[in-house]
Order: sequence, then structure tokens, then C-alpha cells
Amino acid sequence: MTVKLYGFTVGHLTIPWSFMVDGREGAIKVPVPSYVVVHPTATAVFDSGLNVAALRDPAAHVGEFLAAFHTFDFVSGEELGAQLDGIEFGADRIDLVINSHLHFDHAGGNGQFPRADVLVQQAEWDAAHVDDAQLRGYVAADFDTGQEVRRVVGDHDVFGDGSVRCIPTPGHTPGHQCLVVQTEHGGEVVLCADACYLRESLESLLLPGVISDPVAALQTLHRFRDLQASGSRVLFGHDPEFWKSVPHAPARIG
Ligand SMILES: [Zn+2]
Repeated sequence: MTVKLYGFTVGHLTIPWSFMVDGREGAIKVPVPSYVVVHPTATAVFDSGLNVAALRDPAAHVGEFLAAFHTFDFVSGEELGAQLDGIEFGADRIDLVINSHLHFDHAGGNGQFPRADVLVQQAEWDAAHVDDAQLRGYVAADFDTGQEVRRVVGDHDVFGDGSVRCIPTPGHTPGHQCLVVQTEHGGEVVLCADACYLRESLESLLLPGVISDPVAALQTLHRFRDLQASGSRVLFGHDPEFWKSVPHAPARIG
């Protein structure tokens, strides 16, 4: 079974360069990507982007601490739900939201899909629900949104036919996972999310300055190199230059 894969940009964030690559100075403006996977039996979002609450007042939504390190460029119409209404399916057609992890730029849109189940690694759910989680990028209002939550452990075959697989890729956060998609026209595509921010992160094995487990993160980069060597297309998580080369909906990635 093969699937269709679409990409979207749900706003931009300007952040310290050192968040992306340890030791680097200055700031970088990065896209916030989201994806939609259309399988013959169901339609899934992979990472839902920013919360509509951040359109009005980002600091009120993410808190002063996170707002001090993130400048939001996010305007009405960029929220994922609104963009889906512009293509062949609207937000009401989404059956499943898969989160790479629960940081505010990846789970912020979960609440826009009230009838979808949410699929996340158990370790990520746990990491997001400790007392001081917000200091590490977790905003409870993003993901405590009331849907059914499927908490999985380890590799997970989303539709049971091997076409869309979650693979654990810890390092950035304890329960980070990537999505491996067998696309109809684009071969196997690996959606890295924050397990690999930039093309140069993979080429030069560069780790971010803010990271939960550097050893695991480096192992994850080697796993991406192996996947790339076996012919997979690797899509980096927040690479401004690379992202320009990725087709945006209504065009398809694969
Ligand atoms: Zn991110």
C-alpha cells in the first residue's frame, strides 16, 4: 500500500543559532513544517505546528521563558487547520495526529483536530507531563486537548501494512520519533523532525546546543545516514534552505 505525502509551513520561528548547532552565534529564522499523510484507509497529520493561541500573543501561550528565545512569525491563515481547508481535505477529515514529540512547534495544532486520535511515544508523553516541563518546551495546552491518545513504545506500524512507520529517534527529547513513509511517487521518505534540524547536521554530524541526550542524538544521526545510504529521502526538521526545495501542498512530496 502506498500513500500520498504533503508538506506545509506553519509559520516561522527565529531562535538562537546555538539551539540548532552547538557553539554557533547569532540567530536563525527557521520554518515550522507539518505534513499530511493520505493512506487509503485514513488521513494523518505528522506534527501539527503552532497553536492558534500564538497568533494573538505568543508569550501568553508559551510563557515568558520560552518567548525570550523564540520570535514568532505566524499569521492568521498559516495554522495547519486553515491550510488544509484550502486543499482537497479539511481539518474534519483528519483521523490521526502523529507527533514526533510534544514541543510547542510540533504539537501546537493538535487541538485543531478534535476528532482525531493522537499517536505519540509513551516516553514523550511522560516527559511532557512532569512539573517543570514548560521550561523544556512543553506547553500543556497544546497536547492536553482531550482526544484519545495512543501511547506507543518503540517501532510502530501505523496502518498495519508497513506503509507508514514510527521509529523511535531519542536524543532531542526522550520520546522523539520519526515517520518513515512509503510514498506513491517519491519512494521512501524519512520525516526527521527535530532529530535532525539541518542538512549540515547530518553531513557533518553536528549536534544542537540544547538537547536531552547527546549520545542518543548522535546514534540517531547515524541511523539517518544508514537510511539515506539505502535510498531513503531524508527531510530535515527546520532547515530554511533545504525546506525551499521541498514541494508544498497542494503539490505532493511523494
Ligand atoms: Zn521543532
